[in-house]
Amino acid sequence: MGELFLDGSWVGAATGGRRTIVCPADGTVVGEVDEADETDTLRAIDAARRAADDARWRDTPPTERAAAVGRVADLLERDTEEIARAEALDTGKRFAEATVDVADVVSVFRYYAGLGESVERPRPVDAGQEGVVSRVDREPIGVCSLITPWNYPLLQASWKVAPCLLAGNTFVLKPSEITPHSTILMIRAIEEAGVPAGVANLVLGTGPGCAGPMSTDPRVDMVSFTGSLEVGKHLMREAADTVKRVALELGGKNPNIVFADAPREAAIDNAMTAVFLHSGQVCSAGARLLVEESCAAEVVDAIVERARHVRMGHPFDEDAQTGSLTSAEHLKKVEDYVAAGLAEGARLRCGGSRPDDPRLASGYYYPPTVLDGCTVDMHVVQEESFGPVLTVETFRTEEEAVSLANATRYGLAGAVWTGDPERAQRVARRLRLGTVWINDYHPYVAPAEWGGHKQSGIGRELGELGLEEYQETKHVWENTAPAPTGWFA
Ligand code: NAD
Repeated sequence: MGELFLDGSWVGAATGGRRTIVCPADGTVVGEVDEADETDTLRAIDAARRAADDARWRDTPPTERAAAVGRVADLLERDTEEIARAEALDTGKRFAEATVDVADVVSVFRYYAGLGESVERPRPVDAGQEGVVSRVDREPIGVCSLITPWNYPLLQASWKVAPCLLAGNTFVLKPSEITPHSTILMIRAIEEAGVPAGVANLVLGTGPGCAGPMSTDPRVDMVSFTGSLEVGKHLMREAADTVKRVALELGGKNPNIVFADAPREAAIDNAMTAVFLHSGQVCSAGARLLVEESCAAEVVDAIVERARHVRMGHPFDEDAQTGSLTSAEHLKKVEDYVAAGLAEGARLRCGGSRPDDPRLASGYYYPPTVLDGCTVDMHVVQEESFGPVLTVETFRTEEEAVSLANATRYGLAGAVWTGDPERAQRVARRLRLGTVWINDYHPYVAPAEWGGHKQSGIGRELGELGLEEYQETKHVWENTAPAPTGWFA
């Protein structure tokens, strides 16, 4: 029995390829999984296409599909500990955080299960013509390619898989090659929940190694991708040739705006979690602190003081407040990014080099780092580090805060901290972001759409629009009193 799930069977890779998965927190081997190449992916697409065409899943009443999605939620909840353990070991995040992630995943499946029969409810249309009955139906798109990243492997997969299944599609899912284990467990839950063979298919491997046909094969109808801007653009170009639907959840360089009248202690504390949670490997991380000049020294000093004392450690170290970065390659990227910032003139206030604690020597740890004195034109302000690196810029007016906040190509999420409710709403309206928090940072809920403005993406996940991404509309016009038009008489 292998780890690829093709047409309802667990199989090995056609070439016999295998990949070793390493825990980034200590370099130990976590496991070995099959490594697919394009032959396996083509088999997966074939199975998904046949299952879409035989229409068994699509013709299953929406309430029954919803019940299956609900069963997946129950099974994932039942297996929380095993899944959280797998997630923590693959990503290096704390077990406690991974446990919260699984609860979030369960809530996403439950939310979509709860949409039940409304999924395909037709919308009647007033055709404006006697004897005509007209409606707009919602149907599944067909075969979906789902590609996910390594930072929240299961959570990002759930945002796609739950609505995709509920809508009646079939899919081929490819998680990040470095964090496959929790996704394998999710597919097991889908199998146990009784979803028919061929509906859910799993391939494991690298993008260049096995994902090619997922965006080019004409039998695929849609590509939904979460990951970096560069790969997102590549997939969009690839998918253009066969005009596939494309949904992209890409990077962010998210502003966290603190006005001098903000509730100070909460703003400082949340600025920490905004950027240092999961070592900054969060697409919505508040990695740009925009702070009003009159309170900047006090706010930044307090953040630096706390950042120096953040305890890093192994996923099962109960004293740890954050884990490691998820790969050696990513650690190098964060180091290079900080070096570039310093070369551009940013001032290092804390962090900035790997810890010398011998307990952390075999993992890919990087400490919370604050770069002060940044300006909007700097590379470190414009580009995503995806690490625990906070850049600090100051502003004097509300106008300036908004203009700085909007001055990157990204537009995923951000926050505004102020004691003035009117200003909060005014600023929120002007931010070109898919999510704005007022006097808070990070919370999201399954019923509210998530996604990016500008180059942070196309389309939405979660909420009702997150389901509509996986649906086509069809206008059906029925003339109950057909008559000649006489046009060419
Ligand atoms: P990545 O783009 O390197 O990889 C993402 C996925 O794409 C992986 O499964 C990878 O194997 C695959 N891939 C890579 N090259 C490919 C190719 N040529 N063809 C097809 N697939 C390919 O991203 P990552 O480093 O895994 O994740 C980090 C990025 O994800 C960050 O930029 C982050 O902001 C973003 N992200 C966005 C959101 C969001 O909701 N907007 C959520 C999480 C992560």
